[in-house]
Order: sequence, then structure tokens, then C-alpha cells
Amino acid sequence: MSEKIIMLHDLRAPALAVPAAPVTPGGVLVDALSRPLHDLRISVTDRCNFRCVYCMPKEVFGKDYPYLPHSDLLSFEEITRVARIFIAHGVEKIRLTGGEPLLRKNLEHLVAMLRTLPTASGRPLDLTLTTNGSLLARKARALKDAGLDRVTVSLDALDDAVFKRMNDVDFAVADVLAGIDAAHAVGLGPVKVNMVVKRGSNDDQIVPMARHFKDSPTILRFIEYMDVGASNGWNMEEVVPSSEVVERIAAELPLVPVAANYTGETAARWRYLDGGGEIGVISSVTGAFCKDCSRMRLSTEGKLYTCLFATRGHDLRALLRAGHDDLAIGGAIAQLWRGRADRYSETRTADTPSLERGARKVEMSYIGG
Ligand code: SF4
Repeated sequence: MSEKIIMLHDLRAPALAVPAAPVTPGGVLVDALSRPLHDLRISVTDRCNFRCVYCMPKEVFGKDYPYLPHSDLLSFEEITRVARIFIAHGVEKIRLTGGEPLLRKNLEHLVAMLRTLPTASGRPLDLTLTTNGSLLARKARALKDAGLDRVTVSLDALDDAVFKRMNDVDFAVADVLAGIDAAHAVGLGPVKVNMVVKRGSNDDQIVPMARHFKDSPTILRFIEYMDVGASNGWNMEEVVPSSEVVERIAAELPLVPVAANYTGETAARWRYLDGGGEIGVISSVTGAFCKDCSRMRLSTEGKLYTCLFATRGHDLRALLRAGHDDLAIGGAIAQLWRGRADRYSETRTADTPSLERGARKVEMSYIGG
């Protein structure tokens, strides 16, 4: 089958506009749906050593895929400057993502730079990272020492054959589990494990995964398979609703619902009746959570996205490299957020009409989940 090349680079991203009047940081920025800007997700690489079928299918992201040249990526200094500007406008949580963020060389140096940033409220910055765990056993200590708070690890099966079916590379589950253990050992907890559930591919792993992580400090979350990007061939039939996930587990391991830890938490929490820990379900398809969505995303090459399912980015790097000062860049970010009205998951249906001609949703591997 010939390789289908989808240009990852978002050529349609207009430069971010600098407002005429400066916007002095201070106070919380709210968008057009009154949602505060609180979280910034930063993608530090567009590369990954896995080819998860729901994110970077091999037939699209093959060996000849034109990944971004290093010169296009934001440097650690640029990322830290952008983070400082966002923090001045109220961001209190930063999640490092990718692709696979641990593939970015010396990532712990960036962690150490971000760790020095005080938040506007004086609360410590919540600095987290999402990884596929492949390099975690090796990197956990250095990340912790650099100041990382927590990690979330993606793991879609316990059975190696099923795991391979989901990530399309020959990587052993045991090595990811070793990474999770290493994260616990150095204090990068509570460690969360995210499992994307795709009917007919790995849904037979739901209960085995629950059994495995029950009575452990790891919090297992089940993510509904989503129509992210334009390359995973999504269809509703392959979605296992979170209600069914809970039903399957509760049939063997009784569960009770518990309240969210904070407003905007994406996972709905369930606790084992016998006190054996908790699980979460993230229901972007059957239980949208857009009403409290407080997340902005920064792509690997410096474009801002106001939604995971956005079709257009906004070029922040152009402002950085054109010499604009922090006040001007902060103003541009504030203007973008104030105009934000995204709520794709609330409007999506099984047959959400195709997007306007030529529009294509940005790839999750480009902006992080
Ligand atoms: S679909 Fe967009 S607006 Fe809704 S929760 Fe996800 S990122 Fe936020």
C-alpha cells in the first residue's frame, strides 16, 4: 500500500495578532464561554518511537515522513519565555507532551528552567509530563531531580500482542511497567496510566488492566477512542462508551463514583468499594467536558491551538522571532483566549458533517493529547 503523506506542518496558521492596546497581566483570563486559562500543554517534539493506531498510524507517519527540522522547533529558552508569559496571565499547570517528549534531548534541562517560574498566585507551578513510558525507567530520576512533579503514562494493554496491535511497534509491556515503577520509586506520583480503548482492538484488556493496577498507587484512566486529527480512520462503532467500561469492571470489582478533585478535571472518578484505589474515565465522545476546558496548546514549532480538535493554529513563534516584547506577546495571547469559543466535543455527533472545504483537524501527535 503506497504511503499516504499528510503534511504535519500547519501551513494555514496566521500570525498571532498583537493588540493595539497593551494587556497588563494580572487576574484570570476568561474566554468567550467564561472558562479561565489555567493549563498550558507544550509539545516539545513531533516525533515518537511508537505508532499508536489512534494517533500516529504507520501508514501515514511512515519512515519517509517529513518531520520538523530542529531549527523549526522552539528552543528551551523560547519555551520557557512563552511559559513565563502564560504564567503571568494565570496559567498554573504545564504539561509537557509530544509526540514522545522523552525523545527530546536533555528534556530535564527544560524541566529545570520551567521549575524556576513562580506563578501569579504564589502557588507552586504544577509541572507534569505525558509519556509512552518507553524511556521512563532511564529518565525518571533526572526528571524528578530537575523538578518535575508527576507523570502520566500511556499504556493500552497488558498483553504484549494486544499492546503491539495498538502501538504497532515491537515494544514490551514489561518495559513500560518498569518505567511506571521507576516513576513511583523516585516520587513522580501519583502516577496516572491512560488506556485508550478501541472496540475490537484492546477492549478485552479493560478488566485485566483494572485487576493489575487495583490495590496499587497507580491511578488507571480509560479514554474513549476519539476522532482526533485526520488520519486514524475513526468511527463511532469502535468507541466503547465509558459507561460500558465502568459496567465491565464493576461486574467483577464493585465501584462507587467519587467527586472531582478540581473543576476542569477531565476524568470522572470511580473508587473501588473495597478501598482498593480508584480509576478514571475520560469521555470526550459520550460525556463531553468542554464547559470547564481551561487548556491551551502550544505546538512543537510554536503555534497555539485553542482546542484538541482545532483546524487552525496561531503562529506565536513569528512574534517571538520578530522581537516583540513580553507585554505585546502576552497581549496577543490574551486576545486569542478571550475570543475562544471552542467546544468541539459538545457539538460532535457520529456524523458530524465534514469540516469546511480543505480544513483538517490538527494531528494529536503535533500538539499533544
Ligand atoms: S473538545 Fe476542545 S474545547 Fe472541548 S474539552 Fe476538548 S479541547 Fe476543550
